[in-house]
Amino acid sequence: MTTIKATCPTCGEVGLTPDEIELRVDSLDAAASFYAFACPTCRDTVRKPADARIVRLLMSGGVAVRPADPAAPRRRRLAERFDGPPFTHDDLLDFHTLLARDDWFDALVQRDPRSRAA
Ligand SMILES: [Zn+2]
Repeated sequence: MTTIKATCPTCGEVGLTPDEIELRVDSLDAAASFYAFACPTCRDTVRKPADARIVRLLMSGGVAVRPADPAAPRRRRLAERFDGPPFTHDDLLDFHTLLARDDWFDALVQRDPRSRAA
C-alpha cells in the first residue's frame, strides 16, 4: 500500500493511505481544486489547494479523483461577466449613508436578492 506524506498544520508530516485523501478537482476553475484529509494524529480536517502538479502526484499515488462539489458556492472569476449596472459615485454615497444607520446590516440583508428568493 502506498503511503502518501502530507502536512498537518498542527502535527507536521503525517503518512496517509490513498483512501484517506479526498481529492476534488474543479474542471472549470483549477484554483478551486483541493485535497482534504483527517489528520491521523489530531483528527483535524486539513484542506489544501491542489494545483495541477499536486493533482498528478496524488493520482499517481492512487488517490481517486472526484469532481468538485457542484453544490458548493462558486467563486467569481475575473473572466466572468457581471451584468448589473456599473457602480457609480451615487451608489457609493448611498452605501456610505446606509452604513451610518444603526440598522445597516438588516437593511443590507433585505436588499440582497438571495434573501428574497426563499
Ligand atoms: Zn494533526
